[in-house]
Amino acid sequence: MNSRREFLQKISGSAIGLGILPTLASAACATIPGEINDGPVLRVAILGLGGYATRVAEAMVNCKRAKLTGLISGTPEKIKAWQAKYNIPDKNCYNYENYDAIKNNPDIDAVYVITPNALHKEEVIRVAKAGKHAISEKPMAISVKEGEEMIEACKKANVKLLVGYRMHFEPHTLEIIRMRNAGEFGKITFFQGLSGFVSGDPKQWRLNPALSGGGAMMDIGIYSVNGSRYMIGEDPIWVNAVETKNDPVKFVQGIDETIQFQMGFPGGAVASCLSTYSMNWLDRFFLDGLNGFAELHPATSYDPTQGLTHKGPLNFPNTVHQAVQMDEMAAIIFDGKKPIVPVNGEEALKDLKVIEGIYKSAQTGKTVNLQL
Ligand code: NAD
Repeated sequence: MNSRREFLQKISGSAIGLGILPTLASAACATIPGEINDGPVLRVAILGLGGYATRVAEAMVNCKRAKLTGLISGTPEKIKAWQAKYNIPDKNCYNYENYDAIKNNPDIDAVYVITPNALHKEEVIRVAKAGKHAISEKPMAISVKEGEEMIEACKKANVKLLVGYRMHFEPHTLEIIRMRNAGEFGKITFFQGLSGFVSGDPKQWRLNPALSGGGAMMDIGIYSVNGSRYMIGEDPIWVNAVETKNDPVKFVQGIDETIQFQMGFPGGAVASCLSTYSMNWLDRFFLDGLNGFAELHPATSYDPTQGLTHKGPLNFPNTVHQAVQMDEMAAIIFDGKKPIVPVNGEEALKDLKVIEGIYKSAQTGKTVNLQL
């Protein structure tokens, strides 16, 4: 496997083949079941037309409240192909030099930044300065300082800053959060998060620290960091971490290959997590309480999420995560809707604070106290 995308596809396909997962019709369910959305449509330009952007654009076709109306790319051929596919007029297409002019384009409400991690900060700030709402892919930035600058810029420009945390709208995940809030697991004691896959192409930007800002932790380990917080329902107060590197040629200085990390939470729960670029089949969350447990496996791959609790399997529809996310983001932006788990800049900044703590602990061998 040479990409995260292939990992996500492989884990779904193989699990189905092995009969681990039921074969579910790939429901293009663009709303959280039971909700009817009608309101203004969020007109979105995508900045960076790569792998994940392709997935987001395809998902948005089924959105009720979000529509792809603009394109920003450094590659004219890509713009042409996307224009034809999504019927985007020339006047809504930009390159990386001229997209500040989006300011004067009434067809675009928001820009979704889907480029390498290290570019998010500058791009989001330019979007904010153009007076458009900014949606950034995860990780929001490559440092806490950058994240803070982005939040500040969006506040100053009076635009929303949202981050592509698609699992925050996923029905199995939300049911576990509901059960936890209802006390069905009792006192929460433990979370385990396993996030990893074997990283392929050594030339990809993900293995270049200047573009990625880190290795597996920034890319896939962030799911266990974020997941620990929404599964336990608290923010960690300490972290310690150990890094191991078996392939220092492929995983150069600044690119973490494998990190095991533990966290402590104010209510007494502890978490034990693994982030890696050199092991397959790691996409599992486990939440333990004194009266019950919950498992998500796969926990964060695109489709289908599977959930199990002490009461039995969770049978919720599988959604197209990106479609639900974009419809929900329209409701957040236009209706001021408050999602059950936030997807704003402040939420994403907390993950960056934990990740900085993890890196610091791995370097120093000491436990790092956190103040999120
Ligand atoms: P990708 O390599 O497939 O696409 C990156 C795009 O950025 C390409 O179109 C590339 O041309 C463009 N780009 C612009 N400037 C560039 C530069 N200087 N160097 C390299 N590329 C440049 O990557 P991707 O998988 O689409 O990831 C993009 C972002 O989306 C990352 O932040 C990643 O973490 C995030 N992502 C999120 C999910 C999710 O499930 N939420 C999944 C995959 C990726």
